[in-house]
Amino acid sequence: MRFASLGSGSEGNSWLFECKLGNAPTRLMVDCGFAVKETVSRLERVGVPPAQVDAIVVTHEHGDHISGVFKFSRKFGTPVYLTHGTWRAALRSKLTDIEYLHSGRVVLIESHSPFQIKHLKLHPFPVPHDAAEPVQLLIESLSGFIAGILTDCGSATPHLVGMLNRAHALILESNHCPEMLSNSPYPPSLKKRVGGDYGHLSNQVACEILRSLNSGNLKFVVAAHLSKTTNCPDVVQSMWNAVLQPRGIPFEIACQAEGVDWVTLDPAQLAA
Ligand SMILES: [Zn+2]
Ligand SMILES: [Zn+2]
Repeated sequence: MRFASLGSGSEGNSWLFECKLGNAPTRLMVDCGFAVKETVSRLERVGVPPAQVDAIVVTHEHGDHISGVFKFSRKFGTPVYLTHGTWRAALRSKLTDIEYLHSGRVVLIESHSPFQIKHLKLHPFPVPHDAAEPVQLLIESLSGFIAGILTDCGSATPHLVGMLNRAHALILESNHCPEMLSNSPYPPSLKKRVGGDYGHLSNQVACEILRSLNSGNLKFVVAAHLSKTTNCPDVVQSMWNAVLQPRGIPFEIACQAEGVDWVTLDPAQLAA
């Protein structure tokens, strides 16, 4: 399995996972917070024709994750997987309509129940975030490789740390520096929301989560959903380095404009 990001940050997020088992590869998109035209051009950069995306899984209804989902789905016939709460929120904000539920392209998922899309098995788990029914995911290929995603999460819970301990590769939010957030031009209500238990992970909490992952499974990490206003990639680089370098775990930082190019893990490395 390999994965890439089309872009990550408060202006839009989208991840791709590809598993080459079987006759045809399985290509899964997680979230689509870009306009269709933009998504298509970003897909081109990673060499994926839009019609070859098998499904989109939506983590929650915030615009930076859902704004392009239903337009993309209508244009390319892509099935959309989402929780009941996220679907209801999408209806309320008129991103879709009730008829679309009967198009066969909407699959409602339970936030604790695994489901399968071709050769990928998905394990959603609920997260504390200020959305209707947000989930994040483990994505498992039938060869046993597990990638985890955790962004848009205000605080760590024992359940989510337990889930992430299974991951060989992890996409982890490192949204803000608390000091930059408190000195930022944001209104007090937004500062409270972002820094609260249902907001976004700070660099410090991301590092605590990394430290608490002790299964020995983890081989690669991506820092994601960095805020342009309240974070700085150099700070993330040095904080993450201090945690991961002693353990010999490489990492990359996903950016808003370019995302992350394909990351492929050597199966031999997983067995090590
Ligand atoms: Zn977000
Ligand atoms: Zn969000």
